[in-house]
Amino acid sequence: MKKARCINKEKSVNLFYNRKMRKWYFTVYFLSNGLVAAFYGWHDNFIYIIERRIMKTGQSYSSKLPIYYIILGGIHMSDLSNKVMLTIATTGAYPIKKHNPSVPLDPPEIAEDILACAEAGASICHIHVRDDEHKASMSFDKFKEVVDAVRPHSNIVINLTTSGGTGWPDDVRMKPFQVLHPEVASFDCGTMNWQRTGIFENHPKFLEKLGTEMQKHDVKPEIEVFDPGMIYNALDLQKRGFLKPGPLHFQIVMGVKGGIDATVDNLVWMHSLLPKDATWGAVGIGHGQMPIMLATLAMGGHLRVGMEDNVMMKKGVLAKNNVEFVKRAVDLIHLAGKEVATPDEAREILGVENKTKIALGK
Ligand SMILES: [Zn+2]
Repeated sequence: MKKARCINKEKSVNLFYNRKMRKWYFTVYFLSNGLVAAFYGWHDNFIYIIERRIMKTGQSYSSKLPIYYIILGGIHMSDLSNKVMLTIATTGAYPIKKHNPSVPLDPPEIAEDILACAEAGASICHIHVRDDEHKASMSFDKFKEVVDAVRPHSNIVINLTTSGGTGWPDDVRMKPFQVLHPEVASFDCGTMNWQRTGIFENHPKFLEKLGTEMQKHDVKPEIEVFDPGMIYNALDLQKRGFLKPGPLHFQIVMGVKGGIDATVDNLVWMHSLLPKDATWGAVGIGHGQMPIMLATLAMGGHLRVGMEDNVMMKKGVLAKNNVEFVKRAVDLIHLAGKEVATPDEAREILGVENKTKIALGK
């Protein structure tokens, strides 16, 4: 942390650079009529700490303030590094009521479930929608219905999929994030055999277009990687300018047939390939659900839970609903001595603006 500037003793502006977060932040204090107010901020996300003290000792007290605020700033930063972003993936493209009667499939059901999960502690919601027959869909109207039903009631970070199923034209895959302006959208960084059923196609030209459009619309890509090659794809796309410079955010998805298996050894290896400044999370499907969640927590990653990836809490035990997954993850985060990131803290970690506020005109 580096102090860059101090104007004078009565009005002070201090600028700091946090190397780990790669962000500038500042403290400001004013002394006026015996009151002291201090403001802390990262980019547009201001955390206001207002302190009111009667200035009895005047000059001698004010000279200590910068040190006091440097210490507070330090504490605040370490708090953020101890925060775990918790994503709820309520629906995905595949599970239906036959697999778990609680999986939400219609827009009102999905929105209601997201709100309940937000209430239980989820920081981010990853949204998929289904058509009227509950098949995988990229219907813009259905995405809009969900997002419009969530935003007025919750500050949760919105993450829209760009690949709800296979075979959709490029523009259909991109329209939801282009028009609805979520903070995050998924960026599946390669093509693979999907389970035993089909090809999950993400053509190199599509990825170039997708990365360009995400930069244009100020949407943070959640780079979903199903095997190590996809990490190298992301690095290559960034090198060529198709992904924004700066820290990338990865979601390591493990245990899909066709991709890497969900084992802790594989997770350690995949993690070792990520850029040092990347933020990342991981999720294990099927038998890897718990080992990957526990290892991710231990390794400092972020978590994703929900019926997109697992319909069972453990072998043979169906989840009651998505909230049950969220509650268990919250408990594990606390057991690990960490805290769940609030939606605004998740925005700070990801370096994104609050798009819900902007959409609601706040
Ligand atoms: Zn998804």
